[in-house]
Amino acid sequence: MKTEILGTDGASLDRAAELLTGGEVVAVPTETVYGLAANAFDENAVRRIFEAKGRPADNPLIVHIADIAELEKLSPCVPDIAYRCAEAFWAGPLTMILPKRDKIPSVTSGGLDTVGIRMPADTTARAIIKRCGFPLAAPSANLSGSPSPTTFRHVYDDMNGRISAIVDGADSSVGVESTVICFDDNKIRVLRPGFISPEELSGIADTVIDKGVLEQLGEDAVVRSPGMKYKHYAPKADVTIIDSDRDSFRHYVRKNLTEGMMLLVFSKDDCEGLDADFIEYGETAEDQAKKLFTCLRTLDELGAERVLARCPEKSGVGLAVYNRLLRAAGFKVVKL
Ligand code: AMP
Ligand code: MG
Repeated sequence: MKTEILGTDGASLDRAAELLTGGEVVAVPTETVYGLAANAFDENAVRRIFEAKGRPADNPLIVHIADIAELEKLSPCVPDIAYRCAEAFWAGPLTMILPKRDKIPSVTSGGLDTVGIRMPADTTARAIIKRCGFPLAAPSANLSGSPSPTTFRHVYDDMNGRISAIVDGADSSVGVESTVICFDDNKIRVLRPGFISPEELSGIADTVIDKGVLEQLGEDAVVRSPGMKYKHYAPKADVTIIDSDRDSFRHYVRKNLTEGMMLLVFSKDDCEGLDADFIEYGETAEDQAKKLFTCLRTLDELGAERVLARCPEKSGVGLAVYNRLLRAAGFKVVKL
């Protein structure tokens, strides 16, 4: 299949909407990561997303809207707490799981009777949704199992020849996928951490973190957020997280350095006195979120065989970074 490369000017967005209306799959930029979009109401179009990604059929897609008013068109019962979250954090990187209306096909929801809904902040994404006049189902635009794409180039590498078009927009400003929450009575449950942190959500209502966020779940586990049980974001290198301060990290590297090993560090200061190749993923959690997936792809490109990674904070935006890195590391953590 020939993949059209579109810009973000009006005519390009019209073309993207035309393809989407015709049941095609188009990759679009969003502030979290690039999404692989199709008409959420069109069963066949949504099937094409699963095929292009090689995504397991029971892994549900997030449905993207351009206006809060569209929420009740997708869900028959939107509780007050959901509106409070939407008012506080939309447009933005927050997905809410709510009961779904019948017109959302079961392929979109991975066979569940709920649907994940998000209103992206990215103006290009919202302009495309508005032009379409229907909501867009859009998972991350990577091949299943590889790191989520945060730049046009990442999407092109994974999807060229597999989908109808890619919108060449800005790099993702957040860099990790949305925070996914559901509601237990009047509590918020975080199923996947993201840029909207548990601390921020607790300003709206009591917030708990689901155990799937930090624990390894089996493929047959009954989980609230199906995506969390799959092997995710795995680079080819064997990654280990070193949970320690800077001095202990250096000490551990000195003792364990082998041929083909690279370090994933906050800054070059972490590597002082070490004779090892490294890449930096940033000193603040926000910076780390933005760079992590690019770094994972770069490690592969550089042919790293083993990677020792400095451990991010486990709170705030750092929890999202840690959650992704844990999966990249297959949950291998050395605590010093
Ligand atoms: P992605 O679109 O690749 O960021 O993945 C979306 C993730 O959101 C899925 O893997 C699930 O973990 C979660 N999700 C989406 N819809 C639902 C739902 N109805 N119930 C629970 N989790 C959901
Ligand atoms: Mg994904």
